[in-house]
Amino acid sequence: MYRTHTCGQLRAEDVNRTVTLAGWVQKVRNLGAMTFIDLRDRYGITQIVVEEHSDEATKAVAAELGREFVLQVTGKVIERESKNPKMPTGDIEVAATSLRILNRAITPPFTIEEHSDGGDDLRMKYRYLDLRRPPLQRAMALRHRMAHAVRTFLDKEGFLEIETPYLIKSTPEGARDFVVPSRMNPNQFYALPQSPQTLKQLLMVAGYDRYFQIVRCFRDEDLRADRQPEFTQIDCEMSFVEQDDVIDVFERMMRYMFKEILNVDIPEPLQRMPWIEAMERFGCDKPDLRFGMEIHEITPMVKGHGFSIFEDAEYVGAIAAEGCATYTRKQIDELTEFVKRPQVGAKGLVWIRLDAEGNVKSSIDKFYTPDELKAIAAKCEAKAGDLVLVICGPKFKALGQLCALRLEIGDRLGLRDHFKFAPLWVVDFPMFEWDDETQRFYAMHHPFTSPKPEDIEFLESDPGRVRANAYDFVCNGTEVGGGSIRIHDPKLQALIFKVLGFTPEKAEEQFGFLINAFKYGAPPHGGLAFGFDRMCSLFGGADSIRDYIAFPKNNAGRDVMLDAPSAIDKAQLDELYLDLKPVE
Ligand code: ASP
Repeated sequence: MYRTHTCGQLRAEDVNRTVTLAGWVQKVRNLGAMTFIDLRDRYGITQIVVEEHSDEATKAVAAELGREFVLQVTGKVIERESKNPKMPTGDIEVAATSLRILNRAITPPFTIEEHSDGGDDLRMKYRYLDLRRPPLQRAMALRHRMAHAVRTFLDKEGFLEIETPYLIKSTPEGARDFVVPSRMNPNQFYALPQSPQTLKQLLMVAGYDRYFQIVRCFRDEDLRADRQPEFTQIDCEMSFVEQDDVIDVFERMMRYMFKEILNVDIPEPLQRMPWIEAMERFGCDKPDLRFGMEIHEITPMVKGHGFSIFEDAEYVGAIAAEGCATYTRKQIDELTEFVKRPQVGAKGLVWIRLDAEGNVKSSIDKFYTPDELKAIAAKCEAKAGDLVLVICGPKFKALGQLCALRLEIGDRLGLRDHFKFAPLWVVDFPMFEWDDETQRFYAMHHPFTSPKPEDIEFLESDPGRVRANAYDFVCNGTEVGGGSIRIHDPKLQALIFKVLGFTPEKAEEQFGFLINAFKYGAPPHGGLAFGFDRMCSLFGGADSIRDYIAFPKNNAGRDVMLDAPSAIDKAQLDELYLDLKPVE
């Protein structure tokens, strides 16, 4: 037997027991007469003491130990002289009677403790060492508990977990596909699923009316901070349902998760906010409701005063930054730089300061009287001591910029507490999004999403105004999940493909399998998918999803530990009938 207990298990009640532990040496402190060893496994740390009167063999092993040696210790549990209330095992230590080195270790490239001195790249390269650290262990354990809770809940609700293939047909769904060459079918390629969307719809045709899967999805996108080329979804689909039925089940699932994992009660029922309201009040479709400072439109109030920038703007909007009237010139300049960054893209920032006495001062004093400025501030619900910040431009662009500014101010004011949760549903999304560059409409969700019945008549005449039966679960400014009621009528599906610019032949070539299946009796159906990695980081109170993935990729999509992607042999290429082109 390698061990009788784990390194996180022993307590004061165990004093006088003889135990055997096994783990990694985190630290050795040699105090001359005595040696202290911190022995770690994923359950915790136990202090081992090699006392002065220990036998020579034990002392000799202790003298040899280095960081991350794998060690087996047998000894007696004794009460510590100086207890450590910060450690669950801090009341005791184990007085070693025998030490056995199970394996030696070379010196690790960074400290393997709660806080490490290793930078991101180094920790990614030696991820197996990083994973020994308590924060990562807690993240992995949280992820496990969450997956378990999802399965428990959905099982009780009658959902079947059904696996779908990873090698499928390339069906553009928005992002670029990762493709895999087929050796047995030369010059043909599989694609890795961006999501099992079409497969879960086929399962509905097959009569499996409640499906779910915790499943890997693959999207070859340029990576932003919080994206991974492969990520995990809780993917779900139901038959004979309307939007309310889907929202009901998954709102209950989220309520169960919050309670089970965090002991947090979320409101019942959750707020449902139409997309347009989210855009106009918060500037984006994933509003952070942990704090106020909503956006207010002031377009009519600012027109006609000769300030040409506002005169030319389609939309002028503002937020009142709480208590920020004391901001110095330099701080305001910083905010201006922030909104002018290419990621935000505003041209500039106008400010109106309402000091503690209620006096008003502004960067547009020349064009507006103090009363007019006060009226604008009042419209933005500014109080004495607030700083009103104004952005103008094309409506939805300006709203996006105001959203970024609002979140930035929220961060600066410490209003985005990681352990405060403000979930909601965003509903009534538009069906289509117009793309200026390619001059065509794209499906905002995906091409299988059904339009609101009352908007179907505008599908061809005015696609931009058609709303979808689509919904997102949003929490703290992130989209945690999203889905829709699907189209199950082949004629309507054909029309949507047409609006999206597919010829009937192209639609048949890409989605023939689905269109065909629908001819055999497709039930009304709908579903959604949650981003599981993101849900884990949300529950863990973290910003990044990376810590919740055992072996993540870096921002360039590389696995720096495995050194992937990498070149393959000529022989492998030949088998696949592939030739490589030189990179320009
Ligand atoms: N397949 C969709 C996605 O990955 C989710 C859904 O509509 O169920 O976003």
